[in-house]
Amino acid sequence: MQLFENQPLKIYNSLSGKKEVFTPLSKGHVGMYVCGPTVYSNVHLGNCRTFMSFDMIFRYLRHLGYKVRYVRNITDAGHLVDDADDGEDKIAKKARLEKLEPMEVVQRYTVDFHNILDQFNFLPPSIEPTATGHIIEQIEIVKDILAKGYAYEVNGSVYFDVATFNETNEYGKLSGRKLEDMVANTRALAAQDEKKNPQDFALWKKAEPQHIMRWPSPWGDGFPGWHLECTAMSTKYLGETFDIHGGGMDLKFPHHECEIAQAEACYGHSPVRYWLHANMLTMNGKKMAKSTGNNILPGEIFSGENSILSKAFTPSVVRFFMMQAHYTSILDLSNDALLASEKGYQRLMEALTTLPKLTVGTKTDFDIVAWKQGCYDAMNDDFNTPILIAQLFEAVKRINLVKEGKETITAADITLLKESINAFVFEVLGLENERASGVDSNKLGGVVELLIQLRMEARANKDFATSDKIRDQLAALGIQLKDGKDGTTFTVA
Ligand code: AMP
Ligand code: ZN
Repeated sequence: MQLFENQPLKIYNSLSGKKEVFTPLSKGHVGMYVCGPTVYSNVHLGNCRTFMSFDMIFRYLRHLGYKVRYVRNITDAGHLVDDADDGEDKIAKKARLEKLEPMEVVQRYTVDFHNILDQFNFLPPSIEPTATGHIIEQIEIVKDILAKGYAYEVNGSVYFDVATFNETNEYGKLSGRKLEDMVANTRALAAQDEKKNPQDFALWKKAEPQHIMRWPSPWGDGFPGWHLECTAMSTKYLGETFDIHGGGMDLKFPHHECEIAQAEACYGHSPVRYWLHANMLTMNGKKMAKSTGNNILPGEIFSGENSILSKAFTPSVVRFFMMQAHYTSILDLSNDALLASEKGYQRLMEALTTLPKLTVGTKTDFDIVAWKQGCYDAMNDDFNTPILIAQLFEAVKRINLVKEGKETITAADITLLKESINAFVFEVLGLENERASGVDSNKLGGVVELLIQLRMEARANKDFATSDKIRDQLAALGIQLKDGKDGTTFTVA
């Protein structure tokens, strides 16, 4: 018997606006698609929050015993600068500015994305398809939508006809918008505009001569519209109907709304059973975004090289900070919040070190079975990680009471508690014990400070061979010393 059979999971479905009992299409299997990054710049911490929310969801589904096919794409073409149907391709623009091939841009930032996600201890998705690897599939969908009468071709471009679609279907049902209101609130089309209506969106765009990312199609050389790739890749790998589709809240409209329209036009039914949307990470109360500059890179947090935070924070501390908020709530990044998360994370790790060393008693003053079910209840309630963490701290409190001799615990319950905490902390929340792996930032900091002190003493004694050796060997380990007027500081690569 698998855990999912007696741990009923409820998920907030953005489409119905309700928490629903999760029953996958095929018993024991889950198909999940999450919109991946547009790889034209370094992934910022806001992007990481959305992907981390779905990493946690992937982990919990696996923990419950589901066989999960998790598809997270890489957008390497078709996403235009204004997020609509005009402007340059984001990747082509970066390539032009940096005098690179578009695929060099794609490679550079895909490597960065994987590297950051590795540091955060993400599980890799089952499939990570790219938009450029699925041009043929996208063209086939455009042909199908045209044949079904929901699109029209103008001058080498193909647009989705929202008004025609809305006669038989409901455009706007995910975002709660009504087509009539959208029409009333949008400006009229400019005379040269090819679209019949401003709400129509591009399925295929004709490539102007200067547009370097182009492919042949039945309508001439062009490139796919941004929304099309996700319809093509999700249905190719998960089927015309699949269980979960996720992404950041900001993708609900127009991206996901257009995905629904495309799939309904093509297959005649809704593609997704549960739509999940992760909420935004903010900084100074404003959404973290590439375009506004209000962002911080994970690498800048790990190294401490930034002007926002007072010190460096490790990936597990940042992960713990993210998990302390529910994935559908807005979370604001601040120095104080990270300091508090660091304390909490260390308290949790400390308790894990204490647990196996506890004195064994003849009875347990704490109902561990009920406590464990409380952990499941939290996660079964739409992946409520803050409540799970509160439950974990209840166990920490009990561990400390036993340590102080105020309560007792049996050997069997020590084992049960250890197994359960490990499962939730490491397997489900995806944290790592940085103490155990020797990356405790406080200890490392202490050791480096000691070496800085020894180097200063060597220099004072004019023993430059020793002072240079300390600097060079630390540099070889990725620890850079910087001499300033207020003393020597260091950064860890
Ligand atoms: P992009 O690379 O711009 O396509 O974005 C990749 C993912 O990051 C999308 O799912 C966005 O919704 C998500 N995202 C962008 N900004 C934030 C933010 N400030 N907080 C959380 N998720 C975000
Ligand atoms: Zn998408």
